[in-house]
Amino acid sequence: MAGTAGLEARAAELEARAAELEARAAELDAADGLAKLRDRFSLPDGVVYLDGNSLGALPQGVAQRVAEVVAHEWGGELIRSWSTGTWWTAPERIGDKIAPLVGAAPGQVVVGDSTSVNLFKALVGAARLARPGRTQLLVDASTFPTDGYIAASAARMTGLTVTPVDPSQAAEAIGPDTAVVLLNHVDYRTGRLHDLPGLTAAAHAAGALIVWDLCHSGGALPVGLDAHGVDLAVGCTYKYLNGGPGSPAYLYIAERHQAAFDSPLPGWNGHADPFAMTSDYTPAQGAVRGRVGTPDILSMLALEAALDAWDGVAVEDVRAKSLALTDFFLECVAAYVPAGRVESVTPAEHERRGSQVSLRTENAREVMDELIARGVIGDFRAPDVLRFGFTPLYVGFADAERAARTLGHVFG
Ligand SMILES: *Cc1c(COP(=O)(O)O)cnc(C)c1O
Repeated sequence: MAGTAGLEARAAELEARAAELEARAAELDAADGLAKLRDRFSLPDGVVYLDGNSLGALPQGVAQRVAEVVAHEWGGELIRSWSTGTWWTAPERIGDKIAPLVGAAPGQVVVGDSTSVNLFKALVGAARLARPGRTQLLVDASTFPTDGYIAASAARMTGLTVTPVDPSQAAEAIGPDTAVVLLNHVDYRTGRLHDLPGLTAAAHAAGALIVWDLCHSGGALPVGLDAHGVDLAVGCTYKYLNGGPGSPAYLYIAERHQAAFDSPLPGWNGHADPFAMTSDYTPAQGAVRGRVGTPDILSMLALEAALDAWDGVAVEDVRAKSLALTDFFLECVAAYVPAGRVESVTPAEHERRGSQVSLRTENAREVMDELIARGVIGDFRAPDVLRFGFTPLYVGFADAERAARTLGHVFG
């Protein structure tokens, strides 16, 4: 009997807490200057979408733009679209559209290929720029696997040796043998944000170059590539930049390195005069030398239209909302999920947190399947992590509250 009374008391308490959190969410949404940006996206009704760190939502205007490119530019203008249309210069034009979001002045970002391919260009290019005699390629030990695979191959090609390093110990690990350092700005699994200014300075103090992977920070928080003197960087555009499935990635080559940047993939699109069709290779000036072959125009122009969702948006405001959202989500999780069932592996300190919350739990895959069945879409990362990405352009506080409440229900 006492047990039943206890259960009832807990249910009543939870209900009161839920009413309070729902009211707080409504207040936070009402005061949110970015809330209206959700109208720039096309999202299905009844879904809380917390997977924008894997595939960003569809911005308004993209479907129409793609239809126009297919019907008019391809179907109507045909080959003329390469010379008189917007096609040929798309990689550098769209690079300049991404540049302000990662703190780069124009002329340093070029779009095309996948992140993996751009990482290969960046790492081999960096090794060729490095001081002679240096032997070490220092690589984030917890990296998204593709970065590690590519780094191993780039090292074999350039005669370097890969040394894995925990990013929290990278500053001490960089030494007089270090040629190049490759780090992730935000860890894809835990959401930990690494110290880009400090680690870039540490690499430079030791005479090394640094390559940053911005897949989980570009479009989620200020990066400051120019301000912090980063050498090279890569990032994808289908996560926080909402470019669509498989949309082309980007490569940043700091202006001071461009003249000496020697791409391992010197395709004809990176040639100074591609239509001269000469047999010798003369690289183009600027970031354009990071281009390889014919760009995938349909995906590129879809990305260009998608980036309109950022018009008038300051990435600093996005960051402030992201931190408020993840704080609120963690507070709701603590209120709704029975004690001991989940543990956050995302750092609590704002300076160390990206734009996601990762919760470790038993049976994480089944828990995520159940959440998705109830309309809350996050994802699962092996072996035991529930990932919730917060994209401030289209996620609100009521979404965070509903997601946590649904998670509580899954745990019964
Ligand atoms: C998403 C992601 C990638 C993706 O690489 P692709 O070649 O574009 O598939 C690479 N690295 C990191 C760290 C990522 O998060």
